[in-house]
Amino acid sequence: MELLNKYKGGAKKGYISKLDIEEKPLDSFFDSAYLREKYPPLPSPAEVELMRHFIKLSLMNYHVDKGMYPLGSCTMKYNPKINEDIARLPGFTNIHPEAPESTIQGALQLMFELGEFLKEISGLDAITLQPKAGAHGELTGLLITRAYFRSISEERGIVLIPDTAHGTNPASSARAGFKVKEVKSNKNGILEPKSLRESMSEDVALLMITNPNTLGIFESHIRELAHILHDHGALLYMDGANLNAIMGKAKASDFGVDIIHFNLHKTFSTPHGGGGPGSGPVAVTDKLSSFLPTPTIEFDDEKYYFNWTLKNSIGKVSSFYGAFSVMVKAYIYIRLLGADGLEEAACQAVINSNYLLTKLREIYRLPYGKNCMHEFVLSASDFKELGIRTLDIAKRLLDYGYHAPTIYFPLIVPEALMIEPTETESKESLDGFIQAMKNIAKEARDEPDKVKQAPSSTHVGRLDEVKANRELNVRW
Ligand SMILES: *Cc1c(COP(=O)(O)O)cnc(C)c1O
Repeated sequence: MELLNKYKGGAKKGYISKLDIEEKPLDSFFDSAYLREKYPPLPSPAEVELMRHFIKLSLMNYHVDKGMYPLGSCTMKYNPKINEDIARLPGFTNIHPEAPESTIQGALQLMFELGEFLKEISGLDAITLQPKAGAHGELTGLLITRAYFRSISEERGIVLIPDTAHGTNPASSARAGFKVKEVKSNKNGILEPKSLRESMSEDVALLMITNPNTLGIFESHIRELAHILHDHGALLYMDGANLNAIMGKAKASDFGVDIIHFNLHKTFSTPHGGGGPGSGPVAVTDKLSSFLPTPTIEFDDEKYYFNWTLKNSIGKVSSFYGAFSVMVKAYIYIRLLGADGLEEAACQAVINSNYLLTKLREIYRLPYGKNCMHEFVLSASDFKELGIRTLDIAKRLLDYGYHAPTIYFPLIVPEALMIEPTETESKESLDGFIQAMKNIAKEARDEPDKVKQAPSSTHVGRLDEVKANRELNVRW
């Protein structure tokens, strides 16, 4: 026992060995006015208690590792864990963004090659990886647009946006100083050349269009829309957040797109939500390449380097060079899948979505389209006469163990349920979701209170969502 006692706890007293530098009192570092007089009453639980506390909290949460997350427009797909492992390699995590270029050639190569992949996927000519989210990419694209028109001495102040647009589109446009003018989609949920023509004027800088749009429908007139814009000297911006539906199949350049942003955290597999890191690279045509934020990342056949000398650059849009860890994950995802794999993923996303649509439209109304791309929008307006709203259906889904779809969006669909299963769900999990939606429809008729009072199985019931937003309390 003597031997065991001798080695217990490493150093002689306690676990931690003695300081080998001079110990100084705290008030030699801080003004004593800011120091506590008494030590705070922090709990000191045992490891097992701490572990159980956090495991319990994690079980209250819903996440894509736990179940299907059909949140339309958000592309909550399952993200391969190998991406995380590789992004955590010390060669990626232990570098400093201001390290000399010669010491971070690997990181620069990765960013450069990711840019090349995204250029190939979109067909456009030049790229910045700096923006840190889709909306940030939109803002960057709009600032580029403004700088471009100023460079040719035109002050165009209007951005046209279809009524199916994602909310960030008008918000980014207003933020960049443009006036937003809405263009109406037709009864099939897409934009007609006719309505674009009617909205065109010499003040229009840009049409900002999501393709496939937020109804999950492909904008089949997009080439003609591009012609109309270009004939008037305006530009076409494609919100590429829904690239999951077309990557590897169709290129934005074939549609006549001038600017596109990507959502790496949606399409290219980074876990997201809850304000986690994102990345919204922006690709442009040659004509606009000199306006990109600096630095861009270039290769001169020998070394990778930052180019700070773009003639018309709008400047930096991000501290340093963007969300590097998200880029690493996107790079790995693209390299593991290759062109065929990306195309297959897009096809699978569209097939999964159409399978769900075909089964669910038997019960819920489909206001636009017959089939869909990677997502679709149903309406629960038929349930209104039973006193059941979309919100009730979404809440009841939680009791069945599913995350709710996106609801009340897009705005042109009353009582909207926007569903995006993604390609990573199996037929079994899709069937489970269909069954839950069927059960809820039946309950709405037979036991409406069950639906109206849902959820009953979650840790918190119905929240006052307005109060929760207005009086944010992040302390519990
Ligand atoms: C998610 C999304 C955006 C915004 O992307 P963020 O990264 O959340 O800023 C823009 N447009 C569409 C169509 C989207 O789905």
